[in-house]
Amino acid sequence: MNFITLSKDLQTLNNHDLLARARELAHEERRAGIALLHHLREIERRRLFALNHSSLHEYVVRELGYSDGAAHRRISAMRLMSTIPEVEDRLRSGALTLSTASQVQNFLRAEKKLTGTSVSTTEVRNLVSIIEGKSTRETDAILAARAPEVAQHLAARTLERTRVVSTDHSVQVTLTLSRDLQLKLQRLRDRTAHRDPNPSLAQQIEWLADFALAKLSGASGEKRKVSSSGAEAPSRSSSSGAEAPSRSSSSGAEAPSRSSSSGAEAMPAPCKNANPSPRYISSSLRREVWRRAAHRCEMRLFSGMRCSRTHLLQIDHLHPVAWGGASTADNLQLLCAVHNQLKSDQLGNLALKTAGGKSKNTTKVTSAS
Ligand SMILES: [Zn+2]
Repeated sequence: MNFITLSKDLQTLNNHDLLARARELAHEERRAGIALLHHLREIERRRLFALNHSSLHEYVVRELGYSDGAAHRRISAMRLMSTIPEVEDRLRSGALTLSTASQVQNFLRAEKKLTGTSVSTTEVRNLVSIIEGKSTRETDAILAARAPEVAQHLAARTLERTRVVSTDHSVQVTLTLSRDLQLKLQRLRDRTAHRDPNPSLAQQIEWLADFALAKLSGASGEKRKVSSSGAEAPSRSSSSGAEAPSRSSSSGAEAPSRSSSSGAEAMPAPCKNANPSPRYISSSLRREVWRRAAHRCEMRLFSGMRCSRTHLLQIDHLHPVAWGGASTADNLQLLCAVHNQLKSDQLGNLALKTAGGKSKNTTKVTSAS
């Protein structure tokens, strides 16, 4: 039924039936919304989003067509529902909305980040029951009363806005600086006054960015100035990591440890003995891998595109060390954390199959390069 036919049909309905049908549709919409949350949870569990995207959020925006905000609300509500299963009933009844569920989830996440402590499930359950039937504004007030410093932190983040102001992609940024940060910047300006007695805030930020990147590049064995261009690196062709029946892979210097072995690989001590660990990757080799990949994940997606992720990159052994793979240039690639984990999952599944076990997730993935 097209829109015009539907409109004509509705005009013939009496008031009672019109209101009843609207209620029914709202219920149906909520039911479909909850079903979508379940699907997102399973897609995340199987890491299916990583076949063509570097995050679940990117998948929801690009594949499912939601806006950034709508995707964020759905993913946050899905996470809260995973912690507190009763959230599903509350969403279905309308006592909670995607917005209020997302507010709670975001708040608890920020609280954990700021305080370093997790809220107990019982406490989350109590909080959820308190905000039942509340509007987003009322929920904001309840959460702010619970932990004002967390509310302030989130408010400052919300106010951080960027907006493109010229054709060269310069952006105007609105952000809030704490008193402490203002004093630090003041001290920095005083200490660097010989270079520029009165730098703008943008100049100070650029100087700080260059300084930090140079430090980080040194730590990861990458001495060249980090490029912000995101230029495409030549893709390497070699055997797919999917062929290797082991989970072993190593992490790069800038990435947080992902597995028990990766921490040691992330920042290897200079090897002075004649028989270094097969996982050891020299600084010069790290530089070569990062340069060759142009500081970008090398995973080749199902679409044929290369992953665009430049965040949390890790050096990975194409053929795992546990299976005899060597730390040589042609056996190393740069992957983002999501795709490194996806490859590990697949290798684990293949290992189970090889051992005669049954794999839960049998998604086929091609490695980049
Ligand atoms: Zn990637």
